[in-house]
Amino acid sequence: MRLIFLGPPGAGKGTQAKLLTERYGIPQLSTGDMLRTAVAQATEVGKRAKAVMDAGQLVSDEIVNEIVSDRIDAPDCAKGFILDGYPRTVPQAVALDRMLEEKGLKLDAVIELKVDETALVRRMENRVTETVAAGGTVRSDDNPEAFRRRLQEYREKTAPLSEHYARTGRLKTVDGMADVHTVTAEIEKILA
Ligand code: AMP
Repeated sequence: MRLIFLGPPGAGKGTQAKLLTERYGIPQLSTGDMLRTAVAQATEVGKRAKAVMDAGQLVSDEIVNEIVSDRIDAPDCAKGFILDGYPRTVPQAVALDRMLEEKGLKLDAVIELKVDETALVRRMENRVTETVAAGGTVRSDDNPEAFRRRLQEYREKTAPLSEHYARTGRLKTVDGMADVHTVTAEIEKILA
């Protein structure tokens, strides 16, 4: 099973991807998580990505395409994977199509979580409150200014991806405003 989740920041892509990894026994590949690890480890990629990420902007296509291409070659991706936060630009989607073709792999579905944007800032604020309450560390880009910038990047660069996948009949849309379990059930119906 090879899936892509699309949707703005805070739409619940990560939450749904995590639930599906357990159900299907395939890994969640979050480029945001991979980049945050690179930043924490101060690798070359991490050093290049940090300021861009903190400002809520997108890291270059070259960096993320390479990270993803290497990651999907790992043995734990043999049965499939769930891409969360990638692709995020039309050039990334084109690169992914080419990459999968070269590796002899096919996508099973592209699932878009549709959400009301005014609810997203509230979700981000709740995520910060819950993380702090649980003693966790808040993401450095989870602040209102960076979040607004991430939403703007989404509208300008990522929203056109729906069109890219719709054109080829691969796009499925789910109401991401429903509660977590309803959203999961809807996704499972699509995948059944
Ligand atoms: P996320 O955890 O998916 O919200 O990603 C956090 C940040 O990582 C984004 O705001 C971008 O700066 C960067 N990032 C993650 N995935 C990508 C991607 N596919 N392309 C470019 N930048 C990305």
